Amino acid sequence: MLSLEVFPPKPGYPIDSVFETLDGLADLSPGFFSVTYSPRGDNGCRTEEIACRIRRDYGQESLAHLTCLCHGRNEIEAILDRLSVCGVENVLALRGDPPENSHVTGSDFRYAFQLIREVKKKGCFCVGAAAYPEGHVESPSIHQDIDRVKQKVDAGADFLITQMFFDNRVFFDFLHRARWRGIEVPVIPGIMPVLNFRQIKRIIYLCGVSIPARLLRILEKHGGNSGDLQKAGMEYAVQQITGLLSQGVPGVHLYTMNRVDETRRIVAACGIESMESSA
Ligand code: FAD
Repeated sequence: MLSLEVFPPKPGYPIDSVFETLDGLADLSPGFFSVTYSPRGDNGCRTEEIACRIRRDYGQESLAHLTCLCHGRNEIEAILDRLSVCGVENVLALRGDPPENSHVTGSDFRYAFQLIREVKKKGCFCVGAAAYPEGHVESPSIHQDIDRVKQKVDAGADFLITQMFFDNRVFFDFLHRARWRGIEVPVIPGIMPVLNFRQIKRIIYLCGVSIPARLLRILEKHGGNSGDLQKAGMEYAVQQITGLLSQGVPGVHLYTMNRVDETRRIVAACGIESMESSA
């Protein structure tokens, strides 16, 4: 199964552009579209609106991301009620990140597992959680990190989606550790195509993801030419996805970055369309 992640346009930018993205991707009929969440500005409401319209206007499954760091319990309740009313049945329950150099106040939740418990209490949502094949950037150790993932599953998470990784061995090592730790829920690998040098540098910096030598060579060779980098980055993503599928991974979550052409080319090159239609 393929799932696709989109994000709401930044506050102040028209929301319509994300619907152009969805228009361009809807016929790929992914297992679900996920919509990222930011509590800042009006972006939380945008996540709700987009997730609801994916259900209503596109007739597709949607997964609304929800972060707890800046919200009280009543706000979370209200968001969940609105999502439920418009038929959104899936929530990715996350902690979120505090804004840079600021202290978070007004939250009743400190960690994602507390939010997961809260969402599960509603009784009407399938709940996903985040997992980090190389460990969360704040985690003191890989061992403690897997315990935190287990804590989220014990709190009710029905499935996990991973942070990006650029070496499939990292994913399979994580999967092995997770199964060994008694985590039995589906783990969906998250794949981010490298399409932009500055963007990928920032993400690596923020998320602490490692770069294998083969990708580093691509970045060094094509970093100065955006067209060549995009082509090589897409090829790299295709190889990662086909490698995962050939080793029996049942699904892949693609971080589309709202890019229609690149997403379609990657999906077509992986043969996922034909795989879906023959299923
Ligand atoms: P948690 O599971 O709460 O973990 C956060 C940190 O706290 C970890 O270091 C963990 O080890 C530690 N921890 C957890 N429990 C305990 C405990 N009991 N005691 C001590 N320490 C503990 N961010 C957004 O803002 N919006 C999004 O839409 C979004 N989507 C994402 C989608 C995916 C697939 C992924 C992988 C990440 C996403 N993020 C998003 C980023 C996420 O919010 C950050 O990575 C955040 O820093 C951690 O979120 P979490 O839900 O994993 O938190």
